[in-house]
Amino acid sequence: MSSRKLRRKTVSLGEAYGLTFHPDRPTRESAAKSIYGLLGKDGEIFASALRNICNDWLNVCDTRKYPSPMEASLIANDIDRRTIDNLMWTVEKNTGLYQQYLRLRAKVMKLPKLGSHDLFAPIPNAPKMKFNYETVRTQIMKAYSRFDEDYAFAVRDMFARNHIDSTPRIGKGNGAFCASWLEGKTAYILINLSEALIDVYLLAHELGHATHAYYYTRSQTILNCGVSGFSARDFPKIVAETGSIFGELLLTDLLLSQTASNEERKAILCGVLDSASVMFRATNLAIFEQSLYDTIKHGGYLDYRTICKLWVAARNKVSGDAIEYFDEDEARWTDVPQFYMPNFRFYNYPYTYAQLFVYALYRQYLEEGKGFVPKFKKALSAGCSISPVEIGQIVGLDVTDVHFWERGLKQYEDFVIELEKIAV
Ligand SMILES: [Zn+2]
Repeated sequence: MSSRKLRRKTVSLGEAYGLTFHPDRPTRESAAKSIYGLLGKDGEIFASALRNICNDWLNVCDTRKYPSPMEASLIANDIDRRTIDNLMWTVEKNTGLYQQYLRLRAKVMKLPKLGSHDLFAPIPNAPKMKFNYETVRTQIMKAYSRFDEDYAFAVRDMFARNHIDSTPRIGKGNGAFCASWLEGKTAYILINLSEALIDVYLLAHELGHATHAYYYTRSQTILNCGVSGFSARDFPKIVAETGSIFGELLLTDLLLSQTASNEERKAILCGVLDSASVMFRATNLAIFEQSLYDTIKHGGYLDYRTICKLWVAARNKVSGDAIEYFDEDEARWTDVPQFYMPNFRFYNYPYTYAQLFVYALYRQYLEEGKGFVPKFKKALSAGCSISPVEIGQIVGLDVTDVHFWERGLKQYEDFVIELEKIAV
C-alpha cells in the first residue's frame, strides 16, 4: 500500500481496465480496487445471473442425460473426460511451478511479494526494446524461416500482399484478429502495432493462425475447416491455437538466441511465462466453475457471499500464498464474460490443453529437429477432419497417456529455470 496521495478521478470502465496495466503501482492498485469494489456492490445481481445460468444448465444436462456439466464442452472439443481429468490433475499437482514463477516475477520487480495488481504489470526498468513495422517483419520472418523456409510461406505472403492492417487510427477497433484463408483466398490480419515487444508476439501469434489455416484449407473441404455456418462443427478450441502458440515459441527461440543482455532476457522470459501461465489461470476458472455445480448439487444456494468463497478457494488452490490479494479481489469472478454464456459452459480448460499440447509439440521439435517439420505440417493440415487425439498421434504424441501433460509442463519449467538464473 502506498502512502502517496492519489488524485480522485472519474474514468470509464474501459479506461479503468487500461489503468490496471499502468507502470505506476499505486495507479494499478487504485484502478483494480475501484473496479472490483464497484462490481462487488452489485454482487447480488451478478450472483443472481450466474445462479440461474448454472441451475438452468444442470436442468439441460439432466434432460440431455449428460453425465456431467462438462459433457457438452467435451463433445464440442471432441475429447474424452479421462484425458481432461489427467490434464487438470497434472496442472493442479504442479501449481508449485506457477508459484515459483510468481515469486521470481516479484524478485524481478523488486517486490517482496506480488500483489494481484502486479500480475501483468510492466517490468520496471526493463530495457526499451522498440520495434517498428520493418523490424517486426524481419524478426517474425526470420523466426518462421529458421523452423522451415517453406513453413514461412504464408507469413511471407501476408506481408507481401500487405494484408496486415497494423496501424492504429481513429475509428479502428482494438485487439487482434486473423480472418483465415478460405478456398484459396488469402487471410487478413487486424492488429494495432505499438513499438512494444508484446505486439510482436501478438502478430507472430496471428500469423500462426494464418499459417495453420493456409495448411488446412488446402487439404480439407469447407466442411472440415471449422468455418462457422459452413462446417459440420466449429474448430475444437483445444487445437485451434496450435499454429499460433507454436509461432510465439518460434519467436521466443529466435529472440533468446539473439540477446546477450540479461535485462532483455528477463523481459522476454517474463512475457513468455505471463502468457503461458494462462494454463494455471484457466485451471483456476475450471475449478471454480465445477465448484458452482457441486454446491447446487449438494443443496447449496449460490448467493454473492457463497460464490465469493468458492472463488477465493479456487484461486488460492492455484496461486497458494504467492500473491497478495485485496478484499475487493473476491469479486473478480463478476467480470469474466464466459461464466455468463448460457449455452457454452467450461470455456476454460481448452486454454490449458492448448498451451500444454503446443509446449509438448515444441519439445518434440527440439528433440527431433528438422524431422519434426513434415509431421507438424501434416498435423496442421488435418483441420477438423480428425480428432485432437489423432492430431497428436500424427506427431507421435499420445494425449491420452496419463503422463503426457508433464511434457508440456517441463517446457514451462525450463523457462522458469532460465529466468531463475538471471532473476536478481
Ligand atoms: Zn489465437
